[in-house]
Amino acid sequence: MGNNGVLDARERSAMLSRLATERFDVLIIGGGITGAGAALDAASRGLRVALVEARDLASGTSSRSSKLIHGGLRYLEQRDFKLVYEALRERDLLVSKLAPHLVKPVSFLYPLYKKVVERPYVGAGLALYDAMEGTRRPVPHHRHMTARGALKLAPALSPERLAGAMLYYDAQVDDARHTLTVARTAAAHGAVIATRVSAVGLLRSPDGERVTGARVRNEETGHEVTVTAEAVVVCAGVWTDLVHELAGVRAGYQVRMSKGVHIVVPREAVQAETGVIVRTDKSVLFFIPWGEYWIVGTTDTDFSGDRAEPVATEEDVDYILTAANRVLVRPLTRADVIAVYAGLRPLVAAPPSNGAKGPKPTTKVSREHVVDVPLPGLASVAGGKFTTYRLMARDVVDAAVADFGQAVPASVTDQVPLLGADGLAAVRAGAGRLAEDYLLPRATVEHLLDRYGALAGEVLDLIRADPGLAQPLADGHPYLRAEVVYAVTHENALHVEDVLMRRMRLSIESADAGTGVADAVSTIMGRLLGWSRRKRAAETRRYLDLVAAEQTMTALGPESVPGPILARATAG
Ligand SMILES: Cc1cc2nc3c(=O)[nH]c(=O)nc-3n(C[C@H](O)[C@H](O)[C@H](O)COP(=O)(O)OP(=O)(O)OC[C@H]3O[C@@H](n4cnc5c(N)ncnc54)[C@H](O)[C@@H]3O)c2cc1C
Repeated sequence: MGNNGVLDARERSAMLSRLATERFDVLIIGGGITGAGAALDAASRGLRVALVEARDLASGTSSRSSKLIHGGLRYLEQRDFKLVYEALRERDLLVSKLAPHLVKPVSFLYPLYKKVVERPYVGAGLALYDAMEGTRRPVPHHRHMTARGALKLAPALSPERLAGAMLYYDAQVDDARHTLTVARTAAAHGAVIATRVSAVGLLRSPDGERVTGARVRNEETGHEVTVTAEAVVVCAGVWTDLVHELAGVRAGYQVRMSKGVHIVVPREAVQAETGVIVRTDKSVLFFIPWGEYWIVGTTDTDFSGDRAEPVATEEDVDYILTAANRVLVRPLTRADVIAVYAGLRPLVAAPPSNGAKGPKPTTKVSREHVVDVPLPGLASVAGGKFTTYRLMARDVVDAAVADFGQAVPASVTDQVPLLGADGLAAVRAGAGRLAEDYLLPRATVEHLLDRYGALAGEVLDLIRADPGLAQPLADGHPYLRAEVVYAVTHENALHVEDVLMRRMRLSIESADAGTGVADAVSTIMGRLLGWSRRKRAAETRRYLDLVAAEQTMTALGPESVPGPILARATAG
């Protein structure tokens, strides 16, 4: 067994020496949701597993999504029935059993503007969507609504031409936290999880026929070691082609990058008690409730720039504002925008064939995943969605172990609740008592339960030992100083950005992107990690530079964009 899922950044050298000295059954390259899922899948089958992630867990696409665990209503329209069916099953499993502390139901209002044509069409789609659910039904059934009913729930919608609405349910998650929790659960089953360690070359058997591990580089020191494994599994998202190049192989598919941008606005800027989904010319636009904010997006454009830090442009932001303002009574302006973030969808496409007439628009490319074994000992997976990570993980591990000498048990992850899920009901029921015992507001205890589930007690233990850690980290935000400590001692945070961008989400929830507390975070981390004064200052500066680079590209200014363009409100 593992270490109860504690990923302690202070134990980094011990973990790195395990990488170099142990022999693994499976080495996973990539610590996004797919790689973390594969580590859990393989470790919970009793295999010896190591995972290397070049930067931080979820630092790629898996912290930059729409944060929905959903069937994908619009894939029904594309007749992607298998994808929708599988995704809805996964959604229900996550909400009811695997991660009820992290994955929560959320409602969406779908306004209708052409009653006669739209209601039967959308209604039939939603009926099918609901029918594809399992029989346990952890999220409610959809409902038809009148225009009046819709405006009561969402007064922010312009009443003009509104003919009615549908209300349906999906689920949402903090994507970075979910990824981290899956990785920690894998560690609890014995997996070695190494971040800021890149695969820089793949090892071959003496006859060159089989991949037998990888050469990896510690990105903090530049030091390289070899990791030996029976099979290597590539879960590198939009970097997949580059990892295949390291192996000198060409897989049966290519990964195409599609950029998706979201803006974050305060809750007051859009008056509604439910999420909203509206159709746009190209796809759909979501207003997703996110604590005290709305996440609004997304875009879908082909991308070929720097995959490590994709940035939003002014045009991306204007596109979202314009699409939003087509249905809002009070237009959103740039002044409302607190933050902007961009992510890259790893979409699968067949390798280019001669005579092809140029790329398909990315909105039409399938979100289903593809598994390939380009060489014995090397399996890779790409495509899919966050929602279906467990299936992607199962399928790629199945492919990786298919030629192992001895039988490997089938995947059991449908029966493995993530850390923090077990015992959740009892801990939730005792939330009032916890608040009294620790002299904390009830809302703070609820905040901890939503983030750590039944493990919230581990954060509270830190407060018991040092009551000063109960102080909020930043004014007006729920995060506590204890959570910075926990991020280092239990969640493997190595740098300030790991804390402010992913362990907590101040980078997108605060108008200053968390820069005002970067120094405080650096000081708390520095005490635990033995940073000198100079190193602390450098860590703070590193975060400020990262934020400045992103903001320069987006160049958010106070000028407003066009208001409601109601004539085009029902485009598509
Ligand atoms: C805008 C947007 C919105 C989305 N919304 C949703 C949604 O609402 N619901 C949903 O289900 N899905 C959604 N998705 C899709 C979902 O986010 C992705 O499918 C998923 O996050 C991909 O995870 P991944 O692990 O495959 O890739 P990533 O998260 O990118 O992970 C790959 C990792 O590999 C690492 N890596 C690369 N090369 C190396 C190397 N040589 N050595 C070590 N590590 C390496 C990278 O650093 C990276 O962390 C959305 C995607 C986008 C872009």
